Amino acid sequence: MTAMDMGMPKTRPTIATTDRPETPDLLDRFGRIARDLRVSITEKCSLRCTYCMPEEGLPAIPREQLLTTGEIVRLVAVATGLLGVREVRFTGGEPLMRRDLEEIIEGCRRVAPEVPLALTSNAIGLEHRARGLAAAGLSRVNISLDTIDRAHFARLTRRDRLDSVLAGIRAAKTAGLARVKVNAVLMPETLDGAVDLLQWCLDEGVELRFIEEMPLDADHEWARANMVPAQRLLAVLGTRFALTETEREDPSTPAERWLVNRGPATVGIIASVTRSFCSDCDRTRLTAEGTVRSCLFSDHETDLRAALRGGASDNDLAALWRGAMWNKWSGHGIDAADFVPPQRSMGAIGG
Ligand code: SAM
Ligand code: SF4
Repeated sequence: MTAMDMGMPKTRPTIATTDRPETPDLLDRFGRIARDLRVSITEKCSLRCTYCMPEEGLPAIPREQLLTTGEIVRLVAVATGLLGVREVRFTGGEPLMRRDLEEIIEGCRRVAPEVPLALTSNAIGLEHRARGLAAAGLSRVNISLDTIDRAHFARLTRRDRLDSVLAGIRAAKTAGLARVKVNAVLMPETLDGAVDLLQWCLDEGVELRFIEEMPLDADHEWARANMVPAQRLLAVLGTRFALTETEREDPSTPAERWLVNRGPATVGIIASVTRSFCSDCDRTRLTAEGTVRSCLFSDHETDLRAALRGGASDNDLAALWRGAMWNKWSGHGIDAADFVPPQRSMGAIGG
């Protein structure tokens, strides 16, 4: 199987950076600075969410192409030590599928003692690992849960594992992982259940954020006409809750937040499609194979793994990373007539 069959774009060997000002930060040509690093550590997953993965899962990344524990730690050290990255989030695929996740967290905590280390997870198996992850230095966790209706959950994820997710959420709270957040992707079939999901999150004391579905599904079935826009969700939530919009504290935070029944609880909406926040984007991404992606939707990737294994110094790696981000484009262009979804799906990039 070739890299293109697996949805992996070719990497860019040379990047023009002649007009880039001298600065250690991950600056791009539009003046944005990336401070938030997403590290995908695997393509494997215990679920098969229809808006993300194909039924059979993603093709396995050959072991030798996957970043090792030590390589991940080194790249996180470069990002936080030399490039001004201020938060690191591990994702995938499902990060809990890696048995060395605790070691990865521990290593990153050692090289970046002050930096928040977060996890995005479906929480399957978290029940048994939350305590160990917290002890290793994990700061917080975002858990994906789209519905609390068992039949809907099984249909959407193609696995009957709702109980395991709910147990994982409770274990994360018990382990003291701060600010457990629940992320839910909006789909037409789960829209009516959104009020029950919000009520469940209010009862559990976890913050819920809804995300508009993006054209990043492996099956390429996303269609603008079928997507549930934030506005429609707000109308549904309004049938049971009084919602008051709040001021956005930080423009690079993509969620718009509403107080629920006058607070203090809030619900967030990440309207990535209908209210794009590209102009405030502060993300940089590392794939499980060690390539830098400047945007979810851009197929241009810069290969750090080859450089790292070829003997590059930390400063060489940092220079490559800066070059990759300097060429970040202005926005995803989902609404453009010539929009083409990226070759990698969400699970192969790391959401
Ligand atoms: N497996 C973990 C999880 O589900 O949280 C981490 C990886 S998953 C790709 C990261 C996030 O991307 C999840 O919150 C998931 O709901 C979201 N996601 C996946 N496909 C998406 C899509 N097509 N549009 C919007 N969000 C998506
Ligand atoms: Fe797996 Fe997360 Fe994708 Fe669902 S969204 S299939 S849990 S990687």
